[in-house]
Amino acid sequence: MAIKTIVEFSEDRCKGCELCVSVCPKKILFINEDKVNSKGYHPAGVTDTNLCIGCGSCTMICPDGAIRLYKK
Ligand code: SF4
Ligand code: SF4
Repeated sequence: MAIKTIVEFSEDRCKGCELCVSVCPKKILFINEDKVNSKGYHPAGVTDTNLCIGCGSCTMICPDGAIRLYKK
């Protein structure tokens, strides 16, 4: 079975800056306008983690350490 990368957000750390959204080459990250986190921001989320190629760009650019990648 192929190893997949799971993208996980600590939503309460997110400030909704959209940096991760802008760098994702697969365009699978988005700002969830339907949610508000404990800081009062719309947090980022992932549409389909199965499409993630594990490039790590999102975790590297996030200023708040809100994204974690792990292999499954
Ligand atoms: S690891 Fe790369 S492909 Fe996966 S969500 Fe982050 S930026 Fe997108
Ligand atoms: S880069 Fe980090 S703080 Fe900015 S929207 Fe993405 S997860 Fe949130």
